[in-house]
Amino acid sequence: MKYYSTNQQAPIATLEKAVVKGLAEDKGLYMPEHIKPLPKEFFDNIENLSFQEIAYTVADAFFGEDVPAEDLKRIVYDTLSFDVPAVKVTDSIYSLELFHGPTLAFKDVGARFMARLLQYFLKKEGKGEVNVLVATSGDTGSAVANGFLGVDGIHVYVLYPKGKVSPIQECQFTTLGQNITAVEVDGVFDDCQALVKSAFMDADLNAHMRLTSANSINVARFLPQSFYYFYAYAQMKKLGLADQLVVCVPSGNFGNICSALFGKKMGLPIKRFIAANNANDIFFKYLQTGKYEPKASVQTIANAMDVGDPSNFARIYDLYGKDHAAICADISGATYADSQIADTIRQVEATTGYVCDPHGACGFRALQEGLEPGETGIFLETAHPAKFKDTVDSILGKSIDIPAKLQAFMQGTKQSTPMTRHFADFKQYLLAE
Ligand SMILES: *Cc1c(COP(=O)(O)O)cnc(C)c1O
Repeated sequence: MKYYSTNQQAPIATLEKAVVKGLAEDKGLYMPEHIKPLPKEFFDNIENLSFQEIAYTVADAFFGEDVPAEDLKRIVYDTLSFDVPAVKVTDSIYSLELFHGPTLAFKDVGARFMARLLQYFLKKEGKGEVNVLVATSGDTGSAVANGFLGVDGIHVYVLYPKGKVSPIQECQFTTLGQNITAVEVDGVFDDCQALVKSAFMDADLNAHMRLTSANSINVARFLPQSFYYFYAYAQMKKLGLADQLVVCVPSGNFGNICSALFGKKMGLPIKRFIAANNANDIFFKYLQTGKYEPKASVQTIANAMDVGDPSNFARIYDLYGKDHAAICADISGATYADSQIADTIRQVEATTGYVCDPHGACGFRALQEGLEPGETGIFLETAHPAKFKDTVDSILGKSIDIPAKLQAFMQGTKQSTPMTRHFADFKQYLLAE
């Protein structure tokens, strides 16, 4: 399979190049040239297959031409070492819990898959170690660090702003050791991002060490997210509830929902999608007006969706041939202020006992308001509520439990390298590594 850039100004790339480079030369996002529909028999029988079997079939459609079956199967099975259950919240609304992975958020799936695919290509090439640089404001760093933990031949540097990530998030990438180095930058997230970008462009550094990014726009991080939509469908089909299925995705950069739309193109029988936004309503406005007008993001309590210029909009736009009406036919939108998110968390807990995190709460509410008679909705619970414990505790007026997996991170010893926000210092540090 070859990959083209959404900007159409870069050469067609192999999967290997798309994974190692991440972004095309023209700053566009890579798209697979073909999306293979899966056979009817697969969907007829899907409820009898395991998550890993389903995922391997989907992975084969994208990566099967480039990765031998044995290797691809191992990568998929290793990646999905945890379940993604569809849990009943109300009679018509289910939660797809994507928080049973190592860092309790959906980004685990993409990060784990990418780490393993990158390792496969490095081994095949026989080239030495590669260094992954990633800037984080919290969640991405932990998913990438844990996804790559212990993967041979890859060293990860996580750059994060000192004092600006939550204690739980910080523990998730500073206590790992092994091939993960946390770099604590005396600055803000944008400083971390700037250091990473400068490093990629610096000739001395690139001559000294092989650098790559694990950005969320990477095809190896975004395409594997389609796996769990097929599995969600299988679970709902088993319950006899898949005929008019509406899938609601709390969205920020729109990578997650974009992978669902790829699933639909492959034949996944989902009736329609809802993209739930917090107050960052750029996509919502696009649906209403046909105009895409990025703006600076605003801070909300669903902070992983605080995005003012969603990068995967370019992929959705391309996938639908730039046709606004076609996009609106498959996807509707919703946008919620912090007060509405908080009300929803309280209301769902009071009426059902289910605790949503602030992102999942946007998804639940959009279904509650938007489902039509006869439809069943499933929203993606994109992170465990305990990852946003302070917020959720203060909304519910009580202390929610921290899962053992999260506790374990908090007991580790924090190790990080202090760094200024000046590139000269960061460069010197990397040259000495
Ligand atoms: C990253 C993230 C999102 C947004 O996903 P996109 O693919 O960027 O739309 C939603 N919720 C949580 C918890 C996240 O970490």
